[in-house]
Amino acid sequence: MEILPKQPSVKGPAQMFTGDVWFDVIAKGEEPSRMRVNVVRFAPGARTAWHSHAVGQTLHVTEGIGLVQSSGGEVTEIRPGQTIYTPPGEWHWHGAAPDHFMSHLAMWEGPGEGHGPESEWGALVRDDEYNAR
Ligand code: MN
Repeated sequence: MEILPKQPSVKGPAQMFTGDVWFDVIAKGEEPSRMRVNVVRFAPGARTAWHSHAVGQTLHVTEGIGLVQSSGGEVTEIRPGQTIYTPPGEWHWHGAAPDHFMSHLAMWEGPGEGHGPESEWGALVRDDEYNAR
C-alpha cells in the first residue's frame, strides 16, 4: 500500500475548456490497468468543449449544479449524487450551471495500446448552445 502525495491541480487548457476549470488526477492506472479518475471543478459558466471518449465515461456529481448535453439531446441539469454515463464515441459536454460552481468525479478508461486516443476533442460550446435550456 502507498499513500500517494497530492499532485498539483491542473488548469484545463483553453482549447478544451471555456472558463475556469481545474482538475486533479486521482488515478491513472498503469498497463494493464486503463483506469482514469479525475476530480474536475468548474467555475460558474465554465464547461468542457464538445468531446467523446473511446471507452465511454462515467461522471458523478459531488457538489454544486451542472449542465450536460449529448449531441442531438437537450441541455440537462445535474446535481450532487447523480451519475451520468456517456457511451463510447458519443459527443457531449459537461460543465457548471451559469450561477453555480460544480464539481464531479470523471471516470473513464484508456483505449489500450494501439487503439488510438482515449478522447477526441472538437469545438468549444458556444454561448447560444450553453444557454439553449
Ligand atoms: Mn466527457
